[in-house]
Amino acid sequence: MSGSFSAEARLIHAGTARTAAQPATPPLVPTSIYVSEGEPRRERGYGRDGNPGWEALEEALGGLEDAGAVAFASGQAASMALMLTLAQGRERIVLPADGYYGARLLAGKLRPHGTEPVHADLRDLAAVERELKGAPAVLWAETPTNPLLRVADLAALAEVAAAANAPMIVDNTTATGVLQRPLDWGAAASLYSLTKVISGHSDVIAGAVVSRDAELLAGLRAWRSSGGGIPGPFEAWLALRGLKTLPLRIARQSDSALAVARYLAGHRRVRAVHYPGLGAAAFARRQMPDGFGPLLSFEMDSAPAADRVVASSRLILPATSFGGVESTWERRARWPGETAPDGLIRLSVGIEPAADLIADIDQALATPEVP
Ligand SMILES: *Cc1c(COP(=O)(O)O)cnc(C)c1O
Repeated sequence: MSGSFSAEARLIHAGTARTAAQPATPPLVPTSIYVSEGEPRRERGYGRDGNPGWEALEEALGGLEDAGAVAFASGQAASMALMLTLAQGRERIVLPADGYYGARLLAGKLRPHGTEPVHADLRDLAAVERELKGAPAVLWAETPTNPLLRVADLAALAEVAAAANAPMIVDNTTATGVLQRPLDWGAAASLYSLTKVISGHSDVIAGAVVSRDAELLAGLRAWRSSGGGIPGPFEAWLALRGLKTLPLRIARQSDSALAVARYLAGHRRVRAVHYPGLGAAAFARRQMPDGFGPLLSFEMDSAPAADRVVASSRLILPATSFGGVESTWERRARWPGETAPDGLIRLSVGIEPAADLIADIDQALATPEVP
């Protein structure tokens, strides 16, 4: 499709065939085999190698960042393929100490294959530089981080990574390509859990890698075919259906999340609020000019106090994950392996009117601390 239209306009039409008498949207094609004989066509022989539904989803996702995309069964399947592709010949993978805990767990599994995970605070450029220069490395950045919502300076990190000859990848799950384009700041690839804001309706698990490096994309497709971490046709269909409304949803969610964060910052029972939109640095506003996304977190005095608040909501759903149309929250440290403070509640702001959310949080925070 012509590059002269905006990414958001192209997104709506991605995967659509402008062909008479054909459906206006990409059809669901559940199949494990294609009719084929003789020399097999790479992506139309066996269903583990290709599906028209993945390709439509990849066109839409890639279009958001003027790049190519490879869809996977989950964010973790995408991370695994990307880590395995990039770890080859590299001795270190440098990750944020406060980032998504699943990435840290997965990186630990690279040890027997010769790659050591190293944790660093991505806001400390000197520390990142030291770790990257110690051995051939990959920089596995994440911003804003989940669940502390810390923002790293991608332009500065890319410079440090380039000086160390280390590819930088960015887990862009919380911001999405609508709010932040890591490839423009020098990343080799953006990593996505499509499960979250991108599919947006809490009904699908899927993931993807987006990159402008054709060799990297081919390597990822090879891992997907041989490892089998493929998205189901229905999951890809749901993810694309959700993706088309992402710009609308995330604009509303960003506005509401900022309103909720401001309300929380003024509440006497709330010890700290983490949201990039509260007092954002100049580089953060440059990197995310259109908003800071649906996710925020705040701290209560103790785990029992946080548990009581979560249990007292009447609208916000107690649940993990984030980015759905419905608001959800949880005390994050209930998960083993999570390093968030004990009293931290992570809140994903949905598309309900902000006033309803604030009313619900207000009554939940008003419940007595001890039953
Ligand atoms: C959820 C998440 C993942 C993993 O994605 P799944 O789809 O659950 O496998 C990776 N990174 C971040 C930041 C996440 O929030």
